[in-house]
Amino acid sequence: MADVKMNSGVDGLFTVKMRASQGGRHVSGAERIVPVSRISSVFSALAERALRHSKGVPDFVNLKAEAAGDVRRVPALPVTTFEVASVSEGWEKAKEILRAAGVARADEICGRFRETYALRGAMLLDADTLERLDRSGGRGVRATNMDSSSPSPASAKNHFAEALVLASKVLSAPNIVAEVCMSDDPDYVTGYVATRVSGYCRITKLKEPGDEAGGRIFLYRGHREDVAATVDYLERQTVLVETERQTTTDVPRRFASIERELDEIDAAGLRRELRTVAERDCCRVVVNGRSLVSFASNDYLGLAADPRVSEAAADAVRLHGVGSGASRLVTGTLPPHAELERRIAAFKGGESAIAFATGYMANVGAISAIAGRGDVVFSDALNHASIIDGCRLSGAEVVVYPHLDMDALDGRLVGYHGFRRRLVVSDGVFSMDGDMLDLPRFLEVCRRHDAFSMVDEAHALGVVGATGRGLSEYFGCGHPDLMMGTLSKALGSAGGYVAGDTLVVEYLRQRARPFIFSTAPDVAAMSAAVAALGLLADGPELVARLRQNVRVFVAALADEGIKVCTESAIVPILVGDERAAMRVSDRLAERGFLIPAIRYPTVARGAARLRAAVGFRHAEADLLAAAHAVGDAMRAG
Ligand code: PMP
Repeated sequence: MADVKMNSGVDGLFTVKMRASQGGRHVSGAERIVPVSRISSVFSALAERALRHSKGVPDFVNLKAEAAGDVRRVPALPVTTFEVASVSEGWEKAKEILRAAGVARADEICGRFRETYALRGAMLLDADTLERLDRSGGRGVRATNMDSSSPSPASAKNHFAEALVLASKVLSAPNIVAEVCMSDDPDYVTGYVATRVSGYCRITKLKEPGDEAGGRIFLYRGHREDVAATVDYLERQTVLVETERQTTTDVPRRFASIERELDEIDAAGLRRELRTVAERDCCRVVVNGRSLVSFASNDYLGLAADPRVSEAAADAVRLHGVGSGASRLVTGTLPPHAELERRIAAFKGGESAIAFATGYMANVGAISAIAGRGDVVFSDALNHASIIDGCRLSGAEVVVYPHLDMDALDGRLVGYHGFRRRLVVSDGVFSMDGDMLDLPRFLEVCRRHDAFSMVDEAHALGVVGATGRGLSEYFGCGHPDLMMGTLSKALGSAGGYVAGDTLVVEYLRQRARPFIFSTAPDVAAMSAAVAALGLLADGPELVARLRQNVRVFVAALADEGIKVCTESAIVPILVGDERAAMRVSDRLAERGFLIPAIRYPTVARGAARLRAAVGFRHAEADLLAAAHAVGDAMRAG
């Protein structure tokens, strides 16, 4: 619901308010005072904020813009922060600040704080007699109609900035001598006491994390007949608080550029928020109390939830404990490390393999070991970030060639003869597009130029080739010199590897810095991956069924008029605009499907998309329903 009253305000200013609720329960609220020209952008930013609240998706969002009327400007209160170690120390500090402001019965006032938890607004108390002065029963006094003269972006909640504005208005009201406040956000434990004597005093702990209680007390000292005027000021007077950008954040100057950059990320619609997954059961996750069919995970074969895999991990932990203690060069190789390396080498058809704690480390380690200053690395334009970082860290010259363009690669190699080492590196399956390298052509070009070849099969292992052995199996061709892959995707575990000739693998053991300087992979992850590899080797029908699921999903999308190309289990659905992609993903969540939106910097600006990862365990009905929901969500824009 959006409601705009268009009679122009003083200074052309409007108060814009957002309120969101779910089943009658308050979810979030915010307000801004803005010139008429900014109403629509602030509407959309506040709507976005309402719809992305951690308390859940609201079923009612009210957006209202009203001419601001008489606007009063008041200075922001000066800010002091008190670091406290415990909740009790926090409340002692609160009482001390109240006493310094001449409030003698601070103990009793703080003791009554609980009474405010049930109110939407604040409890108004006589500072001396402690008599309750607001006549509004369960509602309390609502301090509203205020904003900062230099507000932070409307899409983001900044507890401190908003509280400072509110407290500065409240303390500018006639006869108010103090305010005590604690947020009801379970993740925000900082509260404050504001007085005319001490200003705005942040107290870093007034409650324990996870506590949803919150409330507010205003202390009044004056004649009873003036109470109504004070309440009227608090609830109706429009106030702009003169805050400097610096004071609204209260961060040391050195953090200012960091904060500015976060604001820019917000303004571009690129802020990433971590969703909390309360439960996970293969393709189903519970987010914000809702069960969703997930297309987010790269656990393509559903092996992360396979009891045989988790049992193997548990056995390894029972036998060897957790944590590896140090690098394998220091603490040695445990049986699960050796077993994993042997099994990977055999599965991939290499002589040897080396394990890393993550796939990221495998790429960074291998590339920066093979190539150094004076060498050159040729890298596909759409390679994974871990390859890009490996290239950067190597200190070698980096030549980026157009995506999958083997003629261009061939041409580039010609210009780089005479270098000590030349390494060509490519994703096997590209992680955001699902397309595949032409491996025979790639190998032919590399060999003709006597360049090292390296292929990242993070999304190919367990997916590509009749038995999931990857691109060489699919094309029936030879292997690259460095066969990199992860244990974290189709194998459902964690870790990375490079397989190849013993000479190369031995060299990596001597030179790959993440292998040398980082604690060895966890035995649980190694043993889980060994068990998963065993299941994969014994059951090629896993791969066949996965591919059948991909076909079903792609065909159902085509029925919705959405044409997608994929040669893997990654199904990219291009949207373009970043905010639009987020909207489509949100609509899908409302329909019970988790299909994440992927935005810059993971993909190019303006190339935002949904990335659906199809899994072996997706039921056909879920695949069809999800494709239908994608069609509806895309049509809604
Ligand atoms: N390479 C590619 C192509 C990837 O997609 C990923 C993971 N997103 C990695 C490497 C890194 O693997 P890990 O998550 O195990 O660090």
